[in-house]
Amino acid sequence: MLENSALCYDLHSHSIASDGVLTPTELVARASKCGVDVLALTDHDGLSGVPEALLAAKNHDLKVVSGVEISVTWNKYLLHIVGLCVDHTNQILNEGLKKIRNTRTERAHEMARRLEAYGIPDVLEGVMKHANGEVISRSHFAYFLIEKGYAKDQKQVFKNFLVSNKPGYVATEWATLEETINWIRGAGGIAVIAHPARYKMTATKFRKLLAEFKLLGGASIEVLSSSHSFDESIKMSAYAQKFDLYASQGSDFHRPHTQYVELGRLPKMPVGCTPVWESPEWRV
Ligand code: AMP
Ligand code: MN
Ligand code: MN
Ligand code: MN
Repeated sequence: MLENSALCYDLHSHSIASDGVLTPTELVARASKCGVDVLALTDHDGLSGVPEALLAAKNHDLKVVSGVEISVTWNKYLLHIVGLCVDHTNQILNEGLKKIRNTRTERAHEMARRLEAYGIPDVLEGVMKHANGEVISRSHFAYFLIEKGYAKDQKQVFKNFLVSNKPGYVATEWATLEETINWIRGAGGIAVIAHPARYKMTATKFRKLLAEFKLLGGASIEVLSSSHSFDESIKMSAYAQKFDLYASQGSDFHRPHTQYVELGRLPKMPVGCTPVWESPEWRV
C-alpha cells in the first residue's frame, strides 16, 4: 500500500444490500479496478453486505471500512448520516436499523397502494423483483417504473412520481439525529453528514444543524461527494473548518455507467481540511 496521503479513499458506496446493483463482492472488485485503496460500504439502513465485502477485500489490495447510511428526520428534513468504522455486529445499532427497515417496508406497501390507485398495476410484485427484500428503497420503485416505461430515467421518475406531492410519495418519520449518532458511536464508529449540500436549507438552518450535530457527538461532514459541485465542495470545506469537523469524501456509487459517478473518482480534498481518516476514532 502507498503512504496514507497518497491513498485513494472512497467512503460512501452501495451494494444490493440496499439500492445498489452490484453484490458486495462485485463492488469491491470494481473499486479495486478503479484504483480505490480504502472503500467504505455504506448501504442504507443495513449492514448485511459488510461481511461479504470484508471477505472480498482479502482478494484485492484494498481495505474495506464497515459503514452504513442512516435515514434521519431532523426538523422535518430528511438527512442521511453515514457511520464509518462501525462494529457491524453491534446489537443496539442493528436493532435500530431493523426498526428503520420495518418503517421502509410499511412505506413501500403504502407507496405501492397509492401508485396502484393512480392506475399502475402490480407495483409491489414488480418492485420486489428489484429489491433484496430487506431494504426497500424509492430507488427500487424508480427501477420498476423505468422498466415499465413510466419514465425515461432516474431523474424523471423521482420528479414525476416519488417526491413530495407526487402520486408515489409517502411522508415518513425516520430515526432522530440523536439516536442515530448514539448508535454509531456506541458501535465505535464516526458519524458523518452525507452529501450536506443536497439539503435545501437556509444558511441559518444549516449552521444550526452543524452545531447540534457536533454537540450530539457528530464528527465529520462529506466535503467531497458526487452530489456536490466544485463550489459546494469549497463551501463545505469552509464549514468543516469553522465547525471543527473532519472532512470525508465519497462517490455515493450505486451502479455502473451512471453519468459522472464512478468509484474513487473524486477531486483532491481542499487544502485546510482535516480528513476523517486522521481522526483518532478511525480504524480499518
Ligand atoms: P429512500 O431512502 O428509499 O427514500 O430513497 C432515496 C434514494 O433514492 C437515495 O439514496 C438515492 O439513491 C435515490 N434518489 C433520491 N432522490 C433522487 C433523485 N432526485 N434522483 C435520483 N435518485 C434519487
Ligand atoms: Mn441510494
Ligand atoms: Mn444519501
Ligand atoms: Mn448513499
